[in-house]
Amino acid sequence: MRLSQYFLPLIRENPNEAQIVSHRLMLRAGMVRQSAAGIYSWLPLGLRVLKRVEQIVREEQDRTGAQEILMPTIQPADLWRESGRYDDYGEEMLRIRDRHEREMLYGPTNEEMVTAIVRDAIKSYRDLPKNLYHIQWKFRDEVRPRFGVMRGREFLMKDAYSFDLDAAGAKHSYNKMFVAYLRTFARMGLKAIPMRAETGPIGGDLSHEFQVLAETGESEVFVHPDYLEMDWESFDDGWYQASGRDALEAAVAHFTGLYAATGDIHDPAQCPVPADKLVTARGIEVGQTFYFGTKYSVPMGAVVNLADGRSAPLEMGSYGIGVSRLVGALIEANHDDGGIIWPDSVAPFRVGLINLRAGDAKCAVAADELYARLSDRGIEVLYDDRDESPGAKFATMDLIGLPWQLIVGPRGIAAGTVELKNRRSGERLELAAEAALQRIAT
Ligand code: ATP
Ligand code: MG
Repeated sequence: MRLSQYFLPLIRENPNEAQIVSHRLMLRAGMVRQSAAGIYSWLPLGLRVLKRVEQIVREEQDRTGAQEILMPTIQPADLWRESGRYDDYGEEMLRIRDRHEREMLYGPTNEEMVTAIVRDAIKSYRDLPKNLYHIQWKFRDEVRPRFGVMRGREFLMKDAYSFDLDAAGAKHSYNKMFVAYLRTFARMGLKAIPMRAETGPIGGDLSHEFQVLAETGESEVFVHPDYLEMDWESFDDGWYQASGRDALEAAVAHFTGLYAATGDIHDPAQCPVPADKLVTARGIEVGQTFYFGTKYSVPMGAVVNLADGRSAPLEMGSYGIGVSRLVGALIEANHDDGGIIWPDSVAPFRVGLINLRAGDAKCAVAADELYARLSDRGIEVLYDDRDESPGAKFATMDLIGLPWQLIVGPRGIAAGTVELKNRRSGERLELAAEAALQRIAT
């Protein structure tokens, strides 16, 4: 992509409305624009990152055997009357009437809808277990939408729903999702600590919130110091495929064995970690898992026939990940004074190619050639071919945070080299073009 043609509306000054760094940088880097309070349009650069995050989430869901569906954003109120949540949910629910005066709502979550789908389709224990998920926009009319996409009103969520025959099966489904979450966040380079949590309006008695520690996090968290040293990347593909129920159970036990609690359930009197060791910090909730048994299946009549002719209500869990919130959380965890520093796995482009002298014929030829070679190798590149000062070009590249910068200038051309800068380490190397391409590719 040539920057001269790209829709990248940058903002030089810090926008007044943005209180935290991720919100500031997302606006400045032309990733999003606010359309109404807590409602955002995603522009090309931001959408690329959102899609990357979404794809990692999707791959790790698929790996567990969960199957992707897509449910609508608009739901009939009657569905929520079946579970009794229509009146309970309160003002966060955006209630809508259609032209026939039918009561509808913009879904804040989908337990009722997916339960109805499964209830109508699955009649026998032989069809279990199932886990269905979708990645869809949600609306919650938050009292205080703020911090950009971190607490929006409309936001993108991955929500999965597991259906099992009994509590043991449901616990196994829970454990699979739990490990999938550890893998998902680790692939993005995030340390998300699982913490015992309140279940809120979703209900149930087993729940974990996954919290990324960050000064700007909205939750107060209390964690055992050993969590800060843990190896979150211990699940490679092989481990996960080969592991049975017991290994999963043990993994979950390992990652939940130490004390970790959010402010709403932390009790200093009960806390096993001495006060001088306990880490008190703030966290961004990037996901939450719930096991709630038959809370929805009983009132909604979602039952299956058993082998002996009896019937039983489905055992359920639900599992959310804040896909759009993650984009903000990633920036909170990866930035410096110059701007964003994208981890490779979610970067919108892998490399920014800078032509330092757009007016110089030799530079243009050399940069065009590198652009073609990068593109041929399938490396995603944003090519700054604009007629701007070198300073402005460097500042733009630092702001948007691509992992590599490849710089073509008259001095290098004379010497037969290009300059390669690593955005994260700041390391700069003078290399022959081919060597630079190899570095970027690996
Ligand atoms: P919070 O406590 O932050 O309000 P929640 O517990 O109400 O979130 P869940 O029902 O657990 O949210 O939703 C699953 C995930 O969706 C959350 O872990 C979070 O990452 C994301 N999420 C929830 N509310 C918002 C929001 N207003 N804006 C962006 N993401 C959100
Ligand atoms: Mg939650």
